[in-house]
Amino acid sequence: MPQLHTRSRQLQQRAEKLLPGGVDSPVRAFRAVGGEPPFVTHAEGAYLFDADGNRYLDFFGSWGPMILGHAFPPVVEAIQQAAARGASFGASTAAEADLAELVTQCFPSVEKLRFVSSGTEACMSAIRLARGFTGRNFIIKFEGCYHGHSDAMLVKAGSGVATLGIPGSAGVPAETAQHTLALPFNDLAAVEAAFAAYPGAIACIIVEPVVGNAGTIQPAAGYLEGLRALTKEHGALLILDEVMTGFRLSLGGAQQLYGVTPDLTTLGKIIGGGLPCGAFGGRADVMDFLAPLGPVYQAGTLSGNPLAMAAGIATLRELIAKKGTIYPALEKTTAAIADGVARIARQAGVPLTVNRVGSMFTWFFTSNPVTDFTSAATSDTEAFGRFHRSMMESGIWLPPSQFEAAFVSMAHGQAEVDLALAAAQKAFAG
Ligand SMILES: *Cc1c(COP(=O)(O)O)cnc(C)c1O
Repeated sequence: MPQLHTRSRQLQQRAEKLLPGGVDSPVRAFRAVGGEPPFVTHAEGAYLFDADGNRYLDFFGSWGPMILGHAFPPVVEAIQQAAARGASFGASTAAEADLAELVTQCFPSVEKLRFVSSGTEACMSAIRLARGFTGRNFIIKFEGCYHGHSDAMLVKAGSGVATLGIPGSAGVPAETAQHTLALPFNDLAAVEAAFAAYPGAIACIIVEPVVGNAGTIQPAAGYLEGLRALTKEHGALLILDEVMTGFRLSLGGAQQLYGVTPDLTTLGKIIGGGLPCGAFGGRADVMDFLAPLGPVYQAGTLSGNPLAMAAGIATLRELIAKKGTIYPALEKTTAAIADGVARIARQAGVPLTVNRVGSMFTWFFTSNPVTDFTSAATSDTEAFGRFHRSMMESGIWLPPSQFEAAFVSMAHGQAEVDLALAAAQKAFAG
């Protein structure tokens, strides 16, 4: 059980002198929940270990990639073997087509794809491609959805159909965001109104088919099908951002689970097996608009990196070979944890709404159903912070924000369910 944080505290103090906030990605600083971020030395299976020798049961899985658990031996071996052959060549390798073949096998809507080094790049490039292909400028995104940190995607909640994008970050010129329409999730009427307000001007809709970045939010029945029908009707492309949901909710992501065929798909996280990797792909006629075949420019020094390809191939091979057992097992373990903690909260009189799809879930500290960003925002973030700190003290590492999805891996089993429930019992009793 975590007790001492002396070493982590020292490492944080040193890091703060060199890195803004001591971190390379803001939420790692724990500002939303209070408490101190442990410094990780290594990880194995379902557990993280910190610089003070504490062990934590991991429920964020590096924000999604680690579906097989940490340091999964076949992935470690694949990376080691690839590293021995050279880290990067800047020239084509057979591994790129090997991984591409596995991806197209899992995602029938992806006829062709291109590898990049992050989910941000995948989404940014897919949007440029959609604009280039359609010759239109406007894009629709949804409040609370995250598609990476490119300028045009950093648009906060718009307050209505006709509301032009207002940048959600300093440093983004209003002009850069003015073509981004931010609409409420799960509201088809808002999308219809946007198409009516900007006839022939909307290039694409980009959406997290199951939202993870506002906490977990399911699409209402018929919602994704509605987006598909409206984009088709208005000559816009549908981009499903499956950076989080791809290979997680099923081998073929949310599009397989809900039976919706997008024009383009963005992937990341699991596709790189823990190494920096993303991809965007879809209809061949759209993908062939990319340079060198077409007029849309996109490139990357480290794109298709041999180590990332090796880790991705080893990860997808495992998921494909064992899909019949892996996905049902993830479903069962995650349900036991998500519903078990919700039951303990109910017994303790703590209002909690659990949203779960497959092995991603969120405990929202609200009694309201959470169906969009507005209802997610009714959560008591102070109560979540207290819960988070208590769980950390019990050695359970949850994502350090109310508005993030938690993940379960193949390395989580009954022992991990028991640990999580015991810690929650303590958290809600205190
Ligand atoms: C994580 C994420 C991204 C961004 O990916 P990075 O690799 O962090 O750039 C984009 N879209 C979704 C849905 C994500 O979850």
